[in-house]
Amino acid sequence: MEALQEIITQIPAAVGQFLMNYGIIAMVYLVVWKLFKKRLQNWRIQLKERVNAKQIKSELINSLFTLVVSTLIVLLIYFMKAKGYTKIYTDINEYPNFFAFGGFFIFLILDDTWFYWIHRLLHHPSIFKYIHKVHHKSIDVNPFTSLSFHWAETLLLTFWIVPVSMFFPMYVPAFGILQIWGFFDNLKSHLGYEFFPSWWNKSLGKVMTSSTHHNMHHSKFNGNYGVHFRIWDRIMGTEFKDYEKTFDEINERKKGILKQRVN
Ligand SMILES: [Zn+2]
Ligand SMILES: [Zn+2]
Repeated sequence: MEALQEIITQIPAAVGQFLMNYGIIAMVYLVVWKLFKKRLQNWRIQLKERVNAKQIKSELINSLFTLVVSTLIVLLIYFMKAKGYTKIYTDINEYPNFFAFGGFFIFLILDDTWFYWIHRLLHHPSIFKYIHKVHHKSIDVNPFTSLSFHWAETLLLTFWIVPVSMFFPMYVPAFGILQIWGFFDNLKSHLGYEFFPSWWNKSLGKVMTSSTHHNMHHSKFNGNYGVHFRIWDRIMGTEFKDYEKTFDEINERKKGILKQRVN
């Protein structure tokens, strides 16, 4: 009964968190896609604009399912925590410092690995049309695409948290940072614009993805499956061969060196 009460008290916070995320997405869309549209023309990854009201409407509807499933997972975690089934903790002294300070990096690598393999599975021709097709209906991606998934995909992509929270000491702030990082990384991937500078792929971008990286996944389909890192794509040979060239071309266009790019 206490666990149930704990869940009920957490519902407004879980829904509030999601709505706040949505507010950020809507604001980014308004600023980048509307207010500065003309000024940022050369920053666009796909020159041909294909987004229309129908696409945005369907992305908003899909987001409602994402809201329901992600809220249910959060509530399940709270329930398990209240029942004592997890190793989630808030007192930093409860486990060795390694878990508090290394937790974020471990979760990020876990999340990326889980995402890569589930994503590849969802692209398997025999199941693609049932689940992942929903997300790929958006070719010219925009901030609203970042939450536009089939409900089963949201469940599959986030479910790793449940078993990990049971067996791995999960320091709440470390996991909180992962949530914030994941949200903004996902938003960046579906921005439709490339804001990273030309030197990106010569430094951090050697291992981390860019907006162009995931944008090419939507426009070309079979490649660039990673979310946070390029590592799995490079190990498995699934990164588009022209990824870095495309990224450089967009940056040349931004500087006015290259006038057009065929996409
Ligand atoms: Zn995909
Ligand atoms: Zn996507």
